[in-house]
Amino acid sequence: MRGEKEYLNGLKSSSYKGKHMGLVESGKMPKSLTKLLNMSRRYSMWVYQWGLACCAIEMGAAFASPRYDVMRLGVIPLPASPRQADFLVVSGTVTDKMAPAVRRLWEQMPDPKYVISMGSCANCGGPYWDSYSVTKGVDQIIPVDVYVPGCPPRPEALLEGIVLLQERIMNEDMAERWRGDPIVVE
Ligand code: SF4
Repeated sequence: MRGEKEYLNGLKSSSYKGKHMGLVESGKMPKSLTKLLNMSRRYSMWVYQWGLACCAIEMGAAFASPRYDVMRLGVIPLPASPRQADFLVVSGTVTDKMAPAVRRLWEQMPDPKYVISMGSCANCGGPYWDSYSVTKGVDQIIPVDVYVPGCPPRPEALLEGIVLLQERIMNEDMAERWRGDPIVVE
């Protein structure tokens, strides 16, 4: 039976040193398993919301009103925190003062995570693009997967953006998307 010291030495041996490890290390997943997992993720998406200005009213209608019933798409609104969320909707005007907070909460979301930018302001600054205090698009601070145009977009436009995101998730290569930042074992 190996002793504790021997075991630790084994972990520190050169074969482990500097090795990169991720959630999925290689792309050799069976296609049927990839499809099953992608479908599961597609229809169980927790959404975290940033309502920053008038677009948030339309987002509220899409997520909270029985007329649109977003849960029929497999989207669960109102997670308790970004740590349970799968995707983020940024709707409204992102100011330079608010941008660090958006970034910080996006960083708290677990991978794989997605972002929908809703409305002209979040897409590019909108009517305030030349303002001294407005960020010229939320994609300057976090990566955006789907842009929903409009000022403001109707709730149906946001739902279409969500459906587009779901189609993208369905066709994802899990190894590419889930690999995440490598953990370096010294
Ligand atoms: S895009 Fe238009 S509706 Fe949306 S937050 Fe900006 S000004 Fe308001």
